Amino acid sequence: MNYAHKLTGTHPVKLKDVEPDYDAGLKREEGEAKLAKLSAELTHLQELLYAAGQHSVLIVLQGRDTSGKDGTIKAVMGPLNSLGCNVASFKVPTERELAHDFLWRVHQQTPGRGEITIFNRSHYEDVLVVRVHNFVPAAVWRKRYDHINAFEQLVADANTIILKFYLHISKAEQEQRLLEREQDAEKYWKLSAGDWKEREHWAAYTRAYEEALQKCSTPHAPWFIVPANKKWFRNLAVAEAIVNTLRPYRKQWLKRLEEVGQREKAAIDAFRKTQA
Ligand code: AMP
Ligand code: MG
Repeated sequence: MNYAHKLTGTHPVKLKDVEPDYDAGLKREEGEAKLAKLSAELTHLQELLYAAGQHSVLIVLQGRDTSGKDGTIKAVMGPLNSLGCNVASFKVPTERELAHDFLWRVHQQTPGRGEITIFNRSHYEDVLVVRVHNFVPAAVWRKRYDHINAFEQLVADANTIILKFYLHISKAEQEQRLLEREQDAEKYWKLSAGDWKEREHWAAYTRAYEEALQKCSTPHAPWFIVPANKKWFRNLAVAEAIVNTLRPYRKQWLKRLEEVGQREKAAIDAFRKTQA
């Protein structure tokens, strides 16, 4: 079963064709049970990834305000071993960052071999918020799709497995989530007048997302559209896509560990002989 919609880049993307409420007919408890199983598998795959040290994993999370980027990190990545797991959050660029090309700050955060890095927002903001608000001329942001594809190709060629998730919520769901934050003191820290202002640009963001999702879906760095109105389903869909992508590497990583083990055992044996 594929709960998230994997894009190939060959067809125009229409977000309205994807139902944000979609839950594959599962009940919440069923979804949570499936997530628990996937989490156990993901934890194991991460151990192999880390130990084998051959690949890295880059997970990009994008979505409108309240779409659940933070919640996904907590639910899906929380159980992982923090030894080999990093989160990089991309906020409004600093003056120093703005003095460079838009990928400068991003490239510094890509994962090394054996590591998983989650981008909480990413270089895609430079064709999303930047485009919607005309922070740079159209002639500048238009060239960025090619820059992004070339950058992701470079990172993928360095053995990085890339997955990109667009957390897809409806406008009504966003309103409800924004209002809920105003009712809950523990969520006050998330309150932002800016979120209500951004909502006014809903249609412009839709167009910007559709173009980015279409132009920057490649075999080595696919986008997944994740139905995200139901938080438990969103978590399940993201976890499933990651596990399905990493599972085929399992044998290769195990083989690598076997080779490393044999080599070191031979070295230990040789050392012992010199002691005898
Ligand atoms: P948060 O909602 O806390 O993640 O806030 C981060 C804010 O930084 C969001 O409003 C983003 O749109 C904004 N942001 C991230 N990257 C950029 C960028 N390259 N240019 C302008 N704003 C950005
Ligand atoms: Mg925000």
